[in-house]
Amino acid sequence: MNLINSDDPYWGMDGVVEENGSQWIVGSGSKIDFWHHNWLGSTIIDLLNISPSVAKTLQTKLSSFIINGNWVCPIDLQALCAPIWNDVVRTTLPCKVGLDDRLIWKSAKDGNLTVALAYDLKRTRLPRVPWARFVWHPSFRPRNSIILWKYLHRRLLTDDVLQRRGFQLSSVCSLCRHGVETSHHLFFTCSFAAAIWWNLLNMFQTPSVFQVKINTDGAARGSPGLAGFGGIFRDHLGCVLGCFAESLGNAYALEAELHAVVHAIHLASLKGWKSLWIESDSTLVIHFLSSLNNKVPWHYFTIWFNCRALLASMLVKISHVYREGNQVADCLANFGVDQVGTLWWDSCPPCALSAYCLDLVGLPNYRFCL
Ligand SMILES: [Zn+2]
Repeated sequence: MNLINSDDPYWGMDGVVEENGSQWIVGSGSKIDFWHHNWLGSTIIDLLNISPSVAKTLQTKLSSFIINGNWVCPIDLQALCAPIWNDVVRTTLPCKVGLDDRLIWKSAKDGNLTVALAYDLKRTRLPRVPWARFVWHPSFRPRNSIILWKYLHRRLLTDDVLQRRGFQLSSVCSLCRHGVETSHHLFFTCSFAAAIWWNLLNMFQTPSVFQVKINTDGAARGSPGLAGFGGIFRDHLGCVLGCFAESLGNAYALEAELHAVVHAIHLASLKGWKSLWIESDSTLVIHFLSSLNNKVPWHYFTIWFNCRALLASMLVKISHVYREGNQVADCLANFGVDQVGTLWWDSCPPCALSAYCLDLVGLPNYRFCL
């Protein structure tokens, strides 16, 4: 939509618009005020530095000085405009009648002032900040970006902010029950926040000396879809004790996750590993493992019962890890989807090697990249 309409009194007469980038293209000259409109790069009034009191008395249409496509000006006018007269006569005139005057927007290639350009012209420009690209990165949900933006501008309505605004309230962090609720506390010093940050960093945590750590994962390419599962056993140094992967055929993701942990527990039992740390990125599987009641899907009742019987003879620690921290098992599970039968490796297979190396050096696996 072109916002400049030379017949429109608002845009046509709006000095702000004219001063900020519009210019008349001379046609017949009947719509152009010789003195007050910008048709030469600036207004004649400005170019000749004519005082406002004199400018008010000057009202002449440009068409008055054009006859048959040529400039025709009185000698006294030429004398008055001497400093700019060369520019005036160099202005291209239409060779024949019929071409209307046109007000154009100089920064637009087609000369049309669009809503986008008008907004860009009118909006207040604030200084650029180095964190803007991070806060408004497209991989973030807008809601999260806005919260982060508010935090950086100290606009989150935490208790300390409300108190400063006159609200009478006593403050205590509702997450840890310690300390006043401030933005800084919520994001950094709160013990709850510290746990979140730790999980987000996804540093691989090694088990204790006599413990074997198991990371399992399931993968399904559909719901249901072709599925598989995998897992890795590691010692207190983070070294591989073994890896497994298996195809499951057509199944749901939860079924793949359950098979992964059941298979891992059976393997651990066969190997004689009695002190286990089981880690999965499935909150449901962690819930099933942690709760005493067997609320697994009904066709897993017996499998799960037998699995729990095995666990009863072991010393077991169970924890949840975010997907980014379970990349080795994730790689194995995805590899297992396309395989036939059960696979076992005594060392880390190539399909999971890069994720394993990141775990070894303690680097996080981020889900997004900037
Ligand atoms: Zn807290």
